[in-house]
Amino acid sequence: MEKDRARDRLGALRVHPTKKLGQNFLIDASAVDEIVRFGAPLSEDNLLEIGPGLGALTKELYRFPRLTLIEIEENFCLELQKRYPRANVINADVRLVDLSELGSDLVVFGNLPYAFSSEIVFLLVDSAVAIKRAVLMLQKEFVERLAAKPGGRDYGVLSISCQLWAQVRTGPVISGECFHPAAKVDSQLVELIFSKEPRCPIPDLFLFKRVVAAAFFKRRRKIGNSIRASQAFRGLPIEELLERAGIDPGRRAETLSIEEYARLCGQFELG
Ligand code: SAM
Repeated sequence: MEKDRARDRLGALRVHPTKKLGQNFLIDASAVDEIVRFGAPLSEDNLLEIGPGLGALTKELYRFPRLTLIEIEENFCLELQKRYPRANVINADVRLVDLSELGSDLVVFGNLPYAFSSEIVFLLVDSAVAIKRAVLMLQKEFVERLAAKPGGRDYGVLSISCQLWAQVRTGPVISGECFHPAAKVDSQLVELIFSKEPRCPIPDLFLFKRVVAAAFFKRRRKIGNSIRASQAFRGLPIEELLERAGIDPGRRAETLSIEEYARLCGQFELG
């Protein structure tokens, strides 16, 4: 059985799977097929797999000429380099890697550790100019937040940061039973199709992030109150800036589109 095989291989490699590193390994061949079908890698792609683990997906990606693997667990890396000698195996915490050093046209695949999902997705967004697209498996609820449109509970800093740089295409849901150890929650595939430019012009990205974070600081309050409570822009006439941007200060942060945040940000630059 696949479960036994995964357990034996982990034993032989002396790796005790931990929750902290999100070490749940795909043991279901049809789930691997789904990822390949959904992600559709091409021979000209500069492929990067984040967290290849025991290599369930790696063996499919290795059919293509250019493949880099970034894995935090040293024993996996030693094994992966033996099995896939042509691959560029990097033993590192991906959060500390400068992805732009791997090229400017990366196609990323990753069944990501849940504990680091936000950090890794923010890393990808910050590296948008180096990435063509990313095909990721993440917790289903996390994918819903990535894809959320204004007006709902799932819409927030993550949705805005991601959709500023990427189109979000959601894919099939994968049951927690497809992993060893079995995951308690379902996963979902998602593709982020990156642009070299943000979706609307943002002269000061740092300020944009601060404005969005302040707007969502108290997401249940009115946006003006939330920005004030965040203390990020002490001394500025928040209500006036909102009005000048054509935004009713009585609205809530989750109702504003990305374009409205860009407009608001423009007022903070002037203010
Ligand atoms: N891709 C494999 C699969 O589908 O069976 C393993 C997926 S498992 C959910 C996540 C993998 O990411 C593990 O191999 C884990 O060791 C690795 N990992 C966890 N945190 C990491 C990090 N910060 N940087 C690189 N790899 C990481």
